[in-house]
Amino acid sequence: MAWDFETEPEFQAKLDWADAFVRDEVEPLDLVWGGLEFTPLDDTRRKVVDPLKQEVRHQRLWATHLGPELGGEGYGQLKLSLLNEILGRSSWAPIVFGCQAPDTGNAEIIAHYGTLGQKDRYLRPLLEGEIFSCYSMTEPHAGADPTMFTTSAVKDGDEWVINGWKFFSSNARTASFLIVMAVTNPDVSAYAGMSMFLVPADTPGIEIVRNVGLAGEREGEGSHALIHYQDVRVPSEALLGGEGQAFAIAQTRLGGGRIHHAMRTIGMAKRALDMMCERALSRHTQGSVLGDKQFVQGYIADSYAQLVQFRLFVLYTAWSIDKHNDYRKVRKDIAAVKVLMPGVLHDIAWRAMQVHGALGVSNEMPFSRMMLGASVLGLADGPTEVHKVTIARQVLRDYQPSDDLWPTTHLPKLRAAAREKYAAYLEHEVGNL
Ligand SMILES: Cc1cc2nc3c(=O)[nH]c(=O)nc-3n(C[C@H](O)[C@H](O)[C@H](O)COP(=O)(O)OP(=O)(O)OC[C@H]3O[C@@H](n4cnc5c(N)ncnc54)[C@H](O)[C@@H]3O)c2cc1C
Repeated sequence: MAWDFETEPEFQAKLDWADAFVRDEVEPLDLVWGGLEFTPLDDTRRKVVDPLKQEVRHQRLWATHLGPELGGEGYGQLKLSLLNEILGRSSWAPIVFGCQAPDTGNAEIIAHYGTLGQKDRYLRPLLEGEIFSCYSMTEPHAGADPTMFTTSAVKDGDEWVINGWKFFSSNARTASFLIVMAVTNPDVSAYAGMSMFLVPADTPGIEIVRNVGLAGEREGEGSHALIHYQDVRVPSEALLGGEGQAFAIAQTRLGGGRIHHAMRTIGMAKRALDMMCERALSRHTQGSVLGDKQFVQGYIADSYAQLVQFRLFVLYTAWSIDKHNDYRKVRKDIAAVKVLMPGVLHDIAWRAMQVHGALGVSNEMPFSRMMLGASVLGLADGPTEVHKVTIARQVLRDYQPSDDLWPTTHLPKLRAAAREKYAAYLEHEVGNL
């Protein structure tokens, strides 16, 4: 019997350590340095953050999404999922544990497709947590449909010249390099005519026109850049993977990114549920605590069931990725988890907010940020609708059309077949009457 829901004791001990460490040492960083997660460390922050990273390394929990050849532990996605549930509670935790998005996905594709020179230049410092990176794919006029992208890269001798606009390139302002997706052959289908480039952030011609913020952030202080690439020249060694391979590379990157977001979302939603339950037991109204009111009990029960269901699906998907060692083979479930994720976080955060009354909607509690986070999860790495299309297509692959007018399950047809199968017995029954 191979199905098992136990965590092996050695790894559980690591999770227990991480749980206490994140609560005691890392969550306070969110309160004092929230928003600075993707800014290179200055001397003050380095004094605090470097020793924390060292402790994580000492516990052998650094960059666990990577194999030992890249400085990780090679624990695989299932264990990473259990760890990410803990890290999802804090915005600094992924940085301290060396597994923050978008750097994890970017590191994965450089590890997978990069040359030795590219790995040396970009991957090593990225894995050390010394530099940050940016993934620059979405364009102002097109996001969900990459076949509409127009940013181009044209060969000129030993160089490529990049021209175009990109939008919502997260962390461009603090990144040391950008991974840019560009059309390199407009004469073939976009699936074969686009390529990826590793572009140092200080290359002439890269202009961050503005840093777009999310709702609630002050104008100009956001971290999602509108970028104009104007005659940006990079050497031929800047090409990541082969010419025309951008789509394959993007799938490798986004497959990992999506499931990692889902893992962290479990932690965030659990935090909202914990807060909801504490409030339900603490607040009295009309003669009893909120937790005695049936509506509130409904919120708690629905949230608990939704969270457990989602968590099991994420763990199962992580387990499947480990088993197949190929994101493409688990595409349907990764897309399904991606589709569920915003709803789970939204619903639980909304209920927790409601149970806290006015305090819940105030800026003294984190619920409105969580709800915005839920909306972001429905867009970043592709909108929910597009992933639903992927799921439906994959599900339909396992089915055949009926070969006549009626469904194969049409009861008269099934009954006729059943009667035929058991005709001898049915005749006997009739004969006995
Ligand atoms: C916080 C955040 C961070 C991001 N970071 C990055 C980043 O680092 N790098 C990067 O390149 N991009 C990034 N993005 C961009 C993200 O990938 C895009 O927002 C996403 O792909 C959708 O593109 P769009 O915003 O242009 O929406 P559109 O493509 O205009 O789609 C808008 C809406 O139309 C509907 N829709 C679209 N297509 C379909 C369809 N086929 N069927 C039915 N309905 C459809 C959906 O409701 C969708 O939400 C980020 C986005 C957010 C919110």
